[in-house]
Amino acid sequence: MAIYTNRVLNLKHIKVIGFDMDHTLVRYNTELFEELTFYESIKKLIKDRGYPKEIKELEFDFSKAVRGLIVDKDNGNILKVSLYNKIKNAFHGTRKLNYKFVKKLYGGTSVDLRDSEYVSVDTAFSIAYTVLYMNLVDLRDQYPDQYPSYRDIADDISYAVDLAHRDGTLKDVVRKNLQKYVKVDPETVEALERFKSYGKRLWVITNSDFQYTKALLDFTINPYLKQHSSWDELFEITITLAMKPRFFNDKMPLLKVDLKDGTLQNYDKKIVPGVFQGGNAVKVQNDLQLNGDQILYFGDHIYGDVVKLKKACEWRTAMVVEDLDFEIDAYKKSKKLSKSIDNLMKEKIGKESEIDELYAQEFEFDKKVDKEVLKQKFSEIEKLDKEIGKLLGRYEKLFNPSWGEVMRAGIEPSFFASQIERYACIYMSKISLLNDYSPRHYFRPKKRKMAHEL
Ligand code: IMP
Ligand code: MG
Repeated sequence: MAIYTNRVLNLKHIKVIGFDMDHTLVRYNTELFEELTFYESIKKLIKDRGYPKEIKELEFDFSKAVRGLIVDKDNGNILKVSLYNKIKNAFHGTRKLNYKFVKKLYGGTSVDLRDSEYVSVDTAFSIAYTVLYMNLVDLRDQYPDQYPSYRDIADDISYAVDLAHRDGTLKDVVRKNLQKYVKVDPETVEALERFKSYGKRLWVITNSDFQYTKALLDFTINPYLKQHSSWDELFEITITLAMKPRFFNDKMPLLKVDLKDGTLQNYDKKIVPGVFQGGNAVKVQNDLQLNGDQILYFGDHIYGDVVKLKKACEWRTAMVVEDLDFEIDAYKKSKKLSKSIDNLMKEKIGKESEIDELYAQEFEFDKKVDKEVLKQKFSEIEKLDKEIGKLLGRYEKLFNPSWGEVMRAGIEPSFFASQIERYACIYMSKISLLNDYSPRHYFRPKKRKMAHEL
């Protein structure tokens, strides 16, 4: 596994490395965390929104969703779209939709993601949301009188998941069961200390509150430090409840956090090393007399950590895509299958050329096409299509059984992957991969080939 480069990035010029905490610096056991979110959100839907008690019996299946899907709130559908917003895979609830139906429903195969019915579910925290939506759409189809509209179901789930994150429901359980929910990775701490020994200043900018941040950093960082006594010594600045993405372009007030008891004080002065709450990117950068391009920020949320930042500041961006390890392993396993698919495609293209040739004889040389020969060729192509379809099904199942690859939608990058390509200067599956690079490394992308150069 490596760090992948989209844009030139010279670490020699980087003075500060900032990290998002959840799913970036701190890795979760995502399946268990999402399972917890799923069941806690169900409790809230029953209690606060009057959903039938039977939904308690729903079973969480982590494999039903992947990151980067689009929920169509009006139709109860979940879509996987490509770089060009083309629908490449679609489900209604947990039922897969066929291509013809999708084409008819959407009046083509593309969607305009700016329309209000589309919600992009692109964080590692969104699997529970998507799986719950799929299940509740199924139940609404079965019992239309007992459930609200598809749109209301989506909004109710957003409410429940959001509340579970904010009111302590999830965080209390995680804090009491850190071993279960949080992965420890001493190599991450090793990378941080190594980068710091080269003079890089380290920051944490998280949307989590101070107490939760402290609990997670005490657990994942402190025991593995060799050159520092505690995370608050390792990190020059820690900003909690940062309210990203607003942190990058709004001017929210900054508060100083007392490390001993978490109490807060208004803070109007220039920022100095310490632990804070709120504030904004411009203030931090200006107070510490830095240029935007001297700061490299690592995050896992394509919108909140990367896209918004790239649009608002000049900071450089690095994206942690947890799913990459699995995806790259699956690519390796799929090589033989890919080759067979390519070979069948070549055969199909050959047959198509033969048909073109027959028509050329008719149109250009007045030689009537033998209908029987033509029929035979078309039936051979149909057979090949079936075989290709079967192999493609097997190929996709090596990735996610329902959705296939996270980073690809057919022959194009997925919408999710295209955002990574566009906005993240570098990307990787985990922070500890920094250990494989010098803190002075010059990341250079490979020359990108255009169609005429291939
Ligand atoms: P970060 O990734 O370190 O910035 O922290 C993400 C924070 O956002 C965590 O505390 C999550 O619990 C929280 N979070 C994730 N999804 C939601 C949501 O839908 N509503 C409110 N908070 C959320
Ligand atoms: Mg995060």
